[in-house]
Amino acid sequence: MTIPEIKTVGVVGAGTMGHGIAWVSALSGYETWMFDEFPDALEAGRNKILKGWERGIQKGRLTPEDRDAAAARLKTTASLDGLKACGLVVEAAPENVELKRDLFARLESLTAPETLLATNTSSISITKLASATQSPDRVVGIHFWNPVPVLDIVELIRGLDTSDRTADTARRWAESLGKDVVEAGDAPGFIGNRFLMPMVNEAIGVLDEGIGSAEDIDRVANVGMAHPLGPLALADLVGLDTCLSIMEVLHQEFGDSKYRP
Ligand code: NAD
Repeated sequence: MTIPEIKTVGVVGAGTMGHGIAWVSALSGYETWMFDEFPDALEAGRNKILKGWERGIQKGRLTPEDRDAAAARLKTTASLDGLKACGLVVEAAPENVELKRDLFARLESLTAPETLLATNTSSISITKLASATQSPDRVVGIHFWNPVPVLDIVELIRGLDTSDRTADTARRWAESLGKDVVEAGDAPGFIGNRFLMPMVNEAIGVLDEGIGSAEDIDRVANVGMAHPLGPLALADLVGLDTCLSIMEVLHQEFGDSKYRP
């Protein structure tokens, strides 16, 4: 069931996370506009969504009618301006402070004052991103987990000035996508990545020092710790560039050498 305040959703970035967020948003009944700076990435993201829905039909999880309705709600735009009529925009661009701050400043100026501006950042301060705008009350963190259509949890993060209206609407929107919402403080890495990424980083250290092979490191986690994915396979799923960026944020923000990537 969609929430009445949000009719149209914008997603910035069509990569690993952006395409997943657009997928669940369109499937949940929202007209969803996906933007990417790179046309090839936009097309690839759209194709991944359509293929995913096709697999859903083959596995009996989705009817062709629901797929057709969702496909009609899924739109792409080659320009950030294409998101100007959205009631909520979720930014899922690379984990880089300056790039995200630039996007938030642009999104603020092109959208209506009541539009919610959300970020899917894994580690960067919501307050810092919001301070690139004149309306930090409408900025909020909605941190999805990868793969978005499969993992039904999000961390909701308020910045210093996030309004109750923004946080409440963001929570109800995420819940309308079938996600379980936990609230996290605005600290580097929030809840999950504060301990997930140091574990991944440590596993890379074990490999680097020749203590175990990649296969054996993941096998110990699979069998000994009952982790469905070992830390090295997980790092590949997340993307090594993203893992590195998250560790750099933890290292820089805490100033503690234990986070050295
Ligand atoms: P990704 O590299 O797969 O996708 C990023 C996309 O953004 C690419 O398609 C790229 O072309 C596009 N892009 C680059 N510059 C842009 C710009 N200026 N405007 C619009 N689009 C631009 O990255 P990802 O893994 O999807 O990560 C996106 C965000 O989600 C990051 O903040 C990351 O920390 C976070 N996140 C990632 C994961 C994960 O497992 N990968 C999980 C949760 C959150």
